[in-house]
Amino acid sequence: MSNIPTPQATIRLPADSHVHTEWSWDTAVGSMEHSCLRALEVGLPSISFTEHSDFTPWSINERVYARLGEQYRAMVSAEGLLLPPGLDVEGYVAAVEHCRERFPDLVITCGVEIGEPHWHPEKVDALLRAYPFDRVIASSHSVKRHGGYHMVGDLFTEMPPDDVVREYLADVHKMIEADTRFEILGHIDYPVRDWPADTAGPYYPARFRDEYMNVLGALAASGRVLEVNTTVPLHPQIVAWWCDAGGQALSFGSDAHAPERVGAGFTQAAAMAESHGFRGGDDPAGLWTRR
Ligand SMILES: [Zn+2]
Ligand SMILES: [Zn+2]
Repeated sequence: MSNIPTPQATIRLPADSHVHTEWSWDTAVGSMEHSCLRALEVGLPSISFTEHSDFTPWSINERVYARLGEQYRAMVSAEGLLLPPGLDVEGYVAAVEHCRERFPDLVITCGVEIGEPHWHPEKVDALLRAYPFDRVIASSHSVKRHGGYHMVGDLFTEMPPDDVVREYLADVHKMIEADTRFEILGHIDYPVRDWPADTAGPYYPARFRDEYMNVLGALAASGRVLEVNTTVPLHPQIVAWWCDAGGQALSFGSDAHAPERVGAGFTQAAAMAESHGFRGGDDPAGLWTRR
């Protein structure tokens, strides 16, 4: 028996359930069609477009303004607020339909990423009534401070880095507890993208164990789904805590804002999720669940 080679187990990749294209206000180089081609090229069974729908008016001070690209400066009002343009739901849905016709071998779903939905309940209700999205990701990119809304990355130079992460996670907990319809919590590790490692040292999730468990416990109790976002990528410790909290399902998202990023890091992410007992089912667009 020992001479018979063991077939190499091939990792089955999950759907990329978090992708932005030219229909998102912050995606200048996006292309829905090229994102579909890329998904087929890297062997993904399915792609879900999740264009941004943001209603939070971000406070932009002079220092932040100086760093903004030209296309974003045009969105800043005289009062110093960045007002993201609304999602063109009709145009977006038509583009998804077009891609479904053009790429019949790829399962394409139509979703939305809503920023801080708990701060804008009426606008979120209207958006979700406008179209029955297949996927609804709720995510936060912001922290409330001094009566204004600030992008998380802008706060690391203004307050202790640990406090930024703690305030972020405390508000994500409020977002989960609020009466908002969403299925997936997007990028729980969003602040890590801008963590100032040069001054604060490496980022260790264990420093924020209680805050993460608070969020994960509420998310699991609500029957919702944790996203393995591959941008940072998500630390395996968070998935271990998700299991401890009773979490049952995972979604995977590259958070691609350019076609070449679709499915990025998915082989490693899938292996990590498998090592925690998560497996995909028969539905190519489906979530991974604990088996
Ligand atoms: Zn996001
Ligand atoms: Zn996103």
